[in-house]
Amino acid sequence: MTLSVGCPRCATPIARAGELWSCPDHGVVEPLWRPGEASYDAFVEHLGATARFPTYLPWPLSPGWRVTDFAAVGTVDRGRAAMTCVSGTSALDGPVDALVITEEPGTGLGARIAGTRHDDPGVEIGEGPPATRVRIDSKSVPLWPVSTSASTAEWDRSVVAGEADGRWLWMVLRPASALMLLRDDWILRDVSGLGPPLVELPFGGPAPAW
Ligand SMILES: [Zn+2]
Repeated sequence: MTLSVGCPRCATPIARAGELWSCPDHGVVEPLWRPGEASYDAFVEHLGATARFPTYLPWPLSPGWRVTDFAAVGTVDRGRAAMTCVSGTSALDGPVDALVITEEPGTGLGARIAGTRHDDPGVEIGEGPPATRVRIDSKSVPLWPVSTSASTAEWDRSVVAGEADGRWLWMVLRPASALMLLRDDWILRDVSGLGPPLVELPFGGPAPAW
């Protein structure tokens, strides 16, 4: 087992309470599964941890980009959230992290990673024109900007969110200026059932703090 267990909402260690997991700060929580370091073996474990839940990755990965982090929330039968991070370099922004989170409402992982105050993206979603769009299967998914001004987190990032397949879809770009990269119509692919092509993915490298 290379994944360690934690709270989806905070970094405090959680304890087993019978069938459940409990966080000292958040009470009973769905377990968050996270690798010490991104690797192929850990990714296979990640996909098994929430077997029937989608894990989206930008696809295909641009040359030189790597899968640097991922996490899942929930159980084999009842996935609640999945996150991936790909990292690379852009000419304008230098090192860039692009995090994709899909989650059931109220899970809190997206908000933790985005550094926003509320569990769910909020009323900005669907108001006015979207900031960008991504493609999932044959669907074009609009994503709206989520304000980070009310949060206490100070790291430089852009947050956009929308809805895909009845779940929240968040994207967090670091630095904030890297949001421009999303103008090129990114494709997100659910890799949960992908199998052998995953072996071709480059894993590892520094994961972003969250
Ligand atoms: Zn917690």
